[in-house]
Amino acid sequence: MRALYPGSFDPLTLGHLDLIERGISLFGEMVIAVLRNPSKIPTFSHEQRVEQIIKATSYIPNVQVISFEGLAINCAKATNADVLLRGLRALSDFEYELQIAHTNRSIDNNLETVFLATAVHHSFLSSSVVKEVARFGGSISHMVPEIVAKDLYTLFNVVEISQ
Ligand code: ADP
Repeated sequence: MRALYPGSFDPLTLGHLDLIERGISLFGEMVIAVLRNPSKIPTFSHEQRVEQIIKATSYIPNVQVISFEGLAINCAKATNADVLLRGLRALSDFEYELQIAHTNRSIDNNLETVFLATAVHHSFLSSSVVKEVARFGGSISHMVPEIVAKDLYTLFNVVEISQ
């Protein structure tokens, strides 16, 4: 089966990466779709986010990385995906994700959304938290792949402060 994993990935975290690895072992194939949202200014351009994900997932077979604009269900159709993959960290994620899953099924009844619970040690992780820590030179090596950490410190023009 092929799973579509859509998201902002601004930037990719180890929580996302854990979901990608586990999704691949469940489904066999995955398309990671980086959202281009015209109404939001991202920290990293979609080209940068795609490049970061390609590099960070290069060791995982059967992963394709694309960028998309619009509805995830249309992207699923275009890429022949069988399921939509999303991650759940906390109850707050669940309410939002359930609404989106119901909305998607009201439009396309054949596309199932599959949720994977975050690994406990990644449950606090979000792209915004990582950016806040990186901005002030905090250590983020346990939060993001090396390539992303490098890009963040370069972007904020800081060096990592060792503890
Ligand atoms: P979006 O803007 O679509 O929510 P994100 O990049 O924030 O994009 O998240 C993409 C998906 O990855 C979402 O389903 C989100 O719940 C999931 N996710 C984000 N962080 C983690 C994490 N630490 N562990 C597991 N899943 C996560």
